[in-house]
Amino acid sequence: MTTTITSHHFLSTCSVLGTVLDLAGGFKRDKRHHPVLQAACHLIWELQLSQMMRSKNSNKHYFTKMGSRKKVHAFVRVRPTDDFAHEMIKYRDDNKTIDIHLKKDTRRGVVNNQQTDWSFKLDRVLHDASQDLVYETVAKDVVSQALNGFNGTIMCYGQTGAGKTYTMTGATENYKHRGILPRALQQVFRMIEERPTHAITVRVSYLEIYNESLFDLLSTLPYVGPSATPMTIVENPQGVFIKGLSVHLTSQEEDAFSLLFEGETNRIIASHTMNKNSSRSHCIFTIYVEARSRTLSDEKYVTSKINLVDLAGSERLGKSRSEGRVLKEATYINKSLSFLEQAIIALGDQKRDHIPFRQCKLTHALKDSLGGNCNMVLVTNIYGEAAQLEETLSSLRFASRMKLVTTEPAINEKYDAERMVKNLEKELALLKQELAIHDSLANRTLVNYDPMDEIQIAEINSQVRRYLEGTLEEIDIINLRQIQEVFNQFRMVLSQQEQEVESTLRRKYTLIDKNDYAAISAVQKAGLVDADGHLVGEPDGQGFGLGVAPFSVKPGKKSKSKKMFKEQVSSSARKEGASSPLSGKDLDVSTSKTQMILSSKDGDVKDMLVRDRETSNTEPLASDSPKEELRPPRPSTPPTKPVAFEDFKNERGSEINRIFKENKSILNERRKRASETTQRINAIKREIDMTKEALNLQKSLREKQGEYENKGLMIIDEEEFLLILKLKDLKKQYRTEHQDLRDLRAEVQYCQHLVDQCRHRLLTEFDIWYNESFFVPEDLQMALKPGGGIRPGMMPLNKIVSLGEDDQDRFGQLQQTTLPEGPDSVSFYNAKVKMEQKHNYVKTMMGLQQAHRK
Ligand code: ADP
Ligand code: MG
Repeated sequence: MTTTITSHHFLSTCSVLGTVLDLAGGFKRDKRHHPVLQAACHLIWELQLSQMMRSKNSNKHYFTKMGSRKKVHAFVRVRPTDDFAHEMIKYRDDNKTIDIHLKKDTRRGVVNNQQTDWSFKLDRVLHDASQDLVYETVAKDVVSQALNGFNGTIMCYGQTGAGKTYTMTGATENYKHRGILPRALQQVFRMIEERPTHAITVRVSYLEIYNESLFDLLSTLPYVGPSATPMTIVENPQGVFIKGLSVHLTSQEEDAFSLLFEGETNRIIASHTMNKNSSRSHCIFTIYVEARSRTLSDEKYVTSKINLVDLAGSERLGKSRSEGRVLKEATYINKSLSFLEQAIIALGDQKRDHIPFRQCKLTHALKDSLGGNCNMVLVTNIYGEAAQLEETLSSLRFASRMKLVTTEPAINEKYDAERMVKNLEKELALLKQELAIHDSLANRTLVNYDPMDEIQIAEINSQVRRYLEGTLEEIDIINLRQIQEVFNQFRMVLSQQEQEVESTLRRKYTLIDKNDYAAISAVQKAGLVDADGHLVGEPDGQGFGLGVAPFSVKPGKKSKSKKMFKEQVSSSARKEGASSPLSGKDLDVSTSKTQMILSSKDGDVKDMLVRDRETSNTEPLASDSPKEELRPPRPSTPPTKPVAFEDFKNERGSEINRIFKENKSILNERRKRASETTQRINAIKREIDMTKEALNLQKSLREKQGEYENKGLMIIDEEEFLLILKLKDLKKQYRTEHQDLRDLRAEVQYCQHLVDQCRHRLLTEFDIWYNESFFVPEDLQMALKPGGGIRPGMMPLNKIVSLGEDDQDRFGQLQQTTLPEGPDSVSFYNAKVKMEQKHNYVKTMMGLQQAHRK
């Protein structure tokens, strides 16, 4: 089983890092190819790897190193006999090939009349072989490879009595005749002793499969106890394991042997008490090995298991002899062995991609031990007697089929996540130290690379706010974590501001969702919005919901307030000392068109004052003045102009005031630069003069000493030469600076013009606003508008409103020249202008009367 780790996480981390570093580089310093950061990148990748492992909720992660394909090794072991069928069974000299010759009429049941000779080439024929030799030939390599992380399977196949158990377990009462199993355990422990650099643990389990049921041959141990639920075969990405099977840690050879004997005894006892025939069960003894390097730095470790399989007798039981329990057993054995054979045939066929492992418990339990990534060995036990030739032939056929199977042994390499995290933590600490060294070398005060605490985050938040307000010029870059936090805080401040704006709007206005059709139709019915969803009375159709709130006038008070208003106007008119030719009555343009819609209880349409279309579609008073606003009721006495001017700058005039200030600051900046440039030019000029003087001195010296010439060229000394070069350079500087100054002067001029224009407009608009706000009755304003009560030409508008074109100009000019004295000077100009206005007004009225008489 292989697992591939995608580099996706790593790449995305790097790209994020890259972006941040680009930003960092763009801001202040360039940290990009810093070795420590590269190491940090690598570290992040490793941390993510360990996170991935942890997220899989497992302490282990599996990697396998694939090797090359390898054929299954198949051996034949012949049970010693005095009655060996020399004529029928012949071995060739290669010790690998076994030839079978069958006389046509020897036995009944040999159906194949045509074929009488077979030849099987295996990996070795073991005749009269000692247990020792068998182990050396069959098992030694498999076991030693297991300690390197390769799984191994050794399987004994053959008819009952042919020596499978003898080969696998051996004679338990005789050490010399011990089989593969105890020898394998011995080898494992010997190898552990030879490898002090590794901590190797050994565990064992012993499973019996009898009539498709699973039995734990070690469940009788006092600390295990019988399992409450039947065992099941479970598959997971790490392989196949038997749920409920006891696995025993063994720290020494002796313990392992005890377990083996315990299992063997249970196998025999079971065959008595449960009336089981031990030759009809499959037994799988498994040794689990886990090898970890003792050096702490290595988080990799290897695991493996060695399956030692003693199969049930392979003989085909004669039908006549098989009844009841025996028939049942025979059926199971035959089935499971034939499934094993099918699986093996499938494994041997390179074109097959599905192997039927799950057809029976045996193949299912051995799924990851047959073929696959393990070292696999088959021992076929046969009789040497002629009487058993038929079964021998069948066993040899099985063996030769097995030889076709190839496996791909691979190391089961795993990562210990805990150890890995520890190592990474160590590495992280080291890198931090290294960063600290780099910081001190770069003369930076110690930068903290730990996660930020609340105080630090609060500090960054305040920096961001000050930066946004403009009180902080720039935010110093300290490290990646800080950059990330700065961005975080930017996002937070932004979202807070959005919320504030929205809640302010909500406090003041009722916002209606443009997609909420029910609400819209309700509002339309109430006459608040037109069919297009535009606010009635809203000239620019920006959407609804922008009614004006702070108007506390209620319908019942309307007439009263109106009365008050008129009184105010006439009184202020009287104060001005001019009697208006138009009475309040004449100018009483109906205000019934002004609707006031009061809040409904549920607050849907709250405090909304919306004027109807007809009224609102009229042009604003001044063509370029901002959108007409509804203002709070007027105070009975108008504020002084300096006070009003301050209000104006914050309200309607805020935009033009802002532009005015902006232009002024640009102008000042340009002026400053121009004066700096002038100073530089003067300095250069002085230096040019000095250099010229020095040069003249050199020249006169040279002339005094007599001149040298070489091929018509004047020879001058180095000092003079350098002076010439310097002069040339200074002149060049002078020219560029001069050009700069010219450009700057043009800019200053242009900016000055802009500032003047802005000032002019600010004052003009202020004046209009002031008059409109405190002197011209609203009714009159409306009447003056196109479609209003007064026909154009009936009255010279500018005279009524306030300023004539010429007056305004003069006023503006006057103010422009004197405004730098401060807003206090405004009242002075106001008085002057008012006086002029009065004068103009009288003049105009007289002119009108004269025209009328004519
Ligand atoms: P199986 O497990 O295949 O049914 P056993 O291993 O139980 O067969 O062998 C049957 C008998 O033959 C046992 O008494 C065993 O000791 C003996 N035997 C088998 N093979 C050998 C051998 N190679 N050398 C000596 N005795 C053997
Ligand atoms: Mg046996």
